[in-house]
Amino acid sequence: MKKRRDFIKKSIIGTTGLTFAGFGLGSKTFCSTIDRQVFEDWQTDPDWVEIKYGDWGGPGVSPEPGPMDAILLKDWAPKSLVVTRETFVPKAKYPAIDCHLHIYARTPEEVDDWVRTMDEVGIEKSVILTGATGDNFDELVDLYLNSYPDRFILYCGMDRSDIENPDYSGRVVAELVRCYNKGALGVGEITDKGFGITRDTSLPRDKRLHPDDPRLDAFWEKCAELKLPVNFHFADHISAWTPLDVFQERTPDYQHFNLYDTDALHFDELITIRNRTLEKHPGTIFVACHLSNQGHDLTTLSQAMDKYPNLYLDTSARDYEMGRTPRSSARFLEKYKDRIMFGTDMGRRKSMFQIHWRLLETDDEYITGRVGWRYYGLNLPASVLKALYRSTAKKIHNI
Ligand SMILES: [Zn+2]
Repeated sequence: MKKRRDFIKKSIIGTTGLTFAGFGLGSKTFCSTIDRQVFEDWQTDPDWVEIKYGDWGGPGVSPEPGPMDAILLKDWAPKSLVVTRETFVPKAKYPAIDCHLHIYARTPEEVDDWVRTMDEVGIEKSVILTGATGDNFDELVDLYLNSYPDRFILYCGMDRSDIENPDYSGRVVAELVRCYNKGALGVGEITDKGFGITRDTSLPRDKRLHPDDPRLDAFWEKCAELKLPVNFHFADHISAWTPLDVFQERTPDYQHFNLYDTDALHFDELITIRNRTLEKHPGTIFVACHLSNQGHDLTTLSQAMDKYPNLYLDTSARDYEMGRTPRSSARFLEKYKDRIMFGTDMGRRKSMFQIHWRLLETDDEYITGRVGWRYYGLNLPASVLKALYRSTAKKIHNI
């Protein structure tokens, strides 16, 4: 009995008297230890049981204290013992255009190295969302396009300075035209996670610059006229608007993206702004990156795809959404293949590209994912792969 009591003392440290609210961002309280009482309260909460075990009503055994009680969620790395096929796909089945990358090379040598990787993994072209304007953009043009004009596509950014000045609307368009003349084939990545596209968290709500703002009307219209697609990050993964408590879907690796109980616009408000922007500028192609942050709800995303013909998507950094719902994702990619493009957004490591080929091209099961979730291969047919990898990107870049 003593042994058991000692163990509990060691593994469940402290009696801090935390309440449920103590775990929320609202109180800005973060604790690495859990009060024994609270620990038991969660386990006797019927909602907790329902969410954790579904209709099973419990783990099916009587849990007893043990060494795993002291393991933190962030450290848990279960080693799968399932024996199943692991297909290594070194190279994409069809030449691919990666539509979502950033400035992952800063010197000519690094650019050479990147191109070697592209050759090895089957990437024909890389789209770099530089987000840059002015001299910064021009230097990137020299770095990438002078040596490899056929291997890289550069997007420029948007002037986001001094947005209150009445000259802003004209200035932002003028810089766009200048970058276009330098070789930009698109604009992005522009991001609005709820504080507007300047991402200034100190701005009050009525001062923020959201994409449906009239100050940007001329800019989006110029993009349409120059046939420049816009890569836009609308909202963020919806879990960012849920509390950092026991019900948080994502592992602690993502907690720094959390916006719950902040003054950011809510996910739903940002999707409404997206829709308003699409409606206001029907001639402008908006590539809502990361499956428009709606990869968790393909039914609602389908409704938007049906309603707004200028809504395009990239798949970047949503391997986990596709991998955890492989059948509905495959159906979705098939249905909208003329408006969805392959992208990664995670550096330029060879293995990073190869795991994407395994996810999209094979029917492997229980693949180790990077967010603590397991993925299942989508086994996409040739017609979908060809569109996703290449033909849709060629169409929107007019190449
Ligand atoms: Zn990105």
